[in-house]
Amino acid sequence: MNREQRRAAAKQAKKDGNEEVAEKVVLFNKLGDECLICNKPFDKKDREMIMSWNVVVREKEEKVNLYCPDCWNGALDMLKQAKEEILGSEEE
Ligand SMILES: [Zn+2]
Repeated sequence: MNREQRRAAAKQAKKDGNEEVAEKVVLFNKLGDECLICNKPFDKKDREMIMSWNVVVREKEEKVNLYCPDCWNGALDMLKQAKEEILGSEEE
């Protein structure tokens, strides 16, 4: 593919709204195969897993962190608690 063709393809992809999709495909290839916290195995072919697991992209490090729903909810709870503690103390 020469430069002109590449430009045309990129333009076409943008027009089709595929730019984001293409980016996601690249990231998908970087997906790990287990939860970052509890090391539960992640099956990339399991649609339900793909839908329910959480992916955090660290673009600078070109890393994709993977969290199973259990760990993700645990992390959210912790965040919520911390937030409530901070906000709570501010209100008083
Ligand atoms: Zn986990």
